[in-house]
Amino acid sequence: MTPAATLIRGGTAVVGEEVSRKDILIEGEQIIAIGDPGELSAGGRGEAGISTNLEVIDAEDLLVLPGGVDTHVHFNDVFMGTVSVHDYYTGTRAAAFGGVTSIIDFSNQVPGGSLAKTLDDKHEEAAGKAIVDWGVHPVITEPTEETLAEIPHVVEAGAPTIKCYMTYREDGLLIEDRDLERIAAGLTAAGGMLMLHAEDNDMIEANVPRLVAEGKLAAIYHARSKPAEVETEAIRRIVGMAERTGGRFFVVHLASAAGLDLITEARARGVDVNTETCTHYLVFTDKVLERDDGIKWICSPPLRDAAIQEKLWEGVVDGRIPMVTSDDAAYSWEAKLYGKDRFDKCPNGIPGIEPRFQILYSEGVAKGRISLSRFVEIVASEPARLFGMAPRKGSLAVGADADIVLFDPEARWTMGQETLHMAADWSGYEGIDITGKIMRVFSRGEMIIDGPECVAAEGRGRYIHCALPVAGGAGG
Ligand SMILES: [Zn+2]
Repeated sequence: MTPAATLIRGGTAVVGEEVSRKDILIEGEQIIAIGDPGELSAGGRGEAGISTNLEVIDAEDLLVLPGGVDTHVHFNDVFMGTVSVHDYYTGTRAAAFGGVTSIIDFSNQVPGGSLAKTLDDKHEEAAGKAIVDWGVHPVITEPTEETLAEIPHVVEAGAPTIKCYMTYREDGLLIEDRDLERIAAGLTAAGGMLMLHAEDNDMIEANVPRLVAEGKLAAIYHARSKPAEVETEAIRRIVGMAERTGGRFFVVHLASAAGLDLITEARARGVDVNTETCTHYLVFTDKVLERDDGIKWICSPPLRDAAIQEKLWEGVVDGRIPMVTSDDAAYSWEAKLYGKDRFDKCPNGIPGIEPRFQILYSEGVAKGRISLSRFVEIVASEPARLFGMAPRKGSLAVGADADIVLFDPEARWTMGQETLHMAADWSGYEGIDITGKIMRVFSRGEMIIDGPECVAAEGRGRYIHCALPVAGGAGG
């Protein structure tokens, strides 16, 4: 049973930029007070008092962090002849184990289907299953007049971030630039943002058949078919579209250093284009694609070399890349094996919703690359802000949802299939030494992860109605 009130006492909390010892009082679903140690002890909360039904949780030696926000996941995703194995139960359960209390999932417009259906489909998939709170990015696949006319309605319904793909013609996802500009215009008028998968389709459609004809079929050739220039060229076009339309654009899963430069320069000119990178680009390089099991790491854009990885870390450190998501796309090993002898047949994606939080702490904070408060920004507060969930989500603040992670910064463990809880029957994050461990997770005041146990009821997760901040991200 959820106690009427919970006091998390004695932990080191990240509240905004400040890292200090704080007590945090939760009542119902919200944080109702944050005080110095002892200040909120039973009976000491002043006139309002504390409910007699108070549970006190000792967080001495632990970090108290806002729950992670992952705005880039693919649940029940039909793609490349298969469907991702994370549904709203297994996906959000893995999220919870990984300290993630809010997700936004992509919902592809099905041929002949309306844009409203992209939301209805996810409400149906989440019902009785979701453990953490969830939102939707509709994906436009058919930019008809009818579809465009629906844009204001999905924005109004809390899904103001629509995604399109600049490639994957064979999967029915490719949208031409002229249509992207029409979509952007509609979104701008409605207060939305256009997210783009940035890869130049013409270059890919020239490269893949050439490599296949040359018998270059192994996993590494997936990366060779989509070098960083493929991404950079698409980003160049996006910047042009953003400039021409005055709309708000977001480049998903950035893995190009030159692309980051283009985005940075555009933002300096006041163009409203922003970006993210993903966990895997920060921890793996294209070297792993040369292994016998290299198909595990086939994803798009592909993993890059160490020099580009270093540039991406620099962007994460200095804020030019404001946030990091997982791009969780979990396909079964049987499906990944479609690519065993043909890189272009392998479903693109890596299961990553659970590793993200702990990997980024371990590789980022524990290794001295980023501060603890920057860590909180990249995994929680920036995704919440840029995708319209703040101030309810993404930070420890009075009045915010009590989405909280209790984290042991000293614990050491080894990440892999045995220690993770994702639904795929394999892991790309095998044998990685980790510093720092999630001990407990609260979602809207309710404990959902207690040590090794998930104690959440299926279906407790709620739809997140997102509304973007009015001022653009540019310059911020
Ligand atoms: Zn994705």
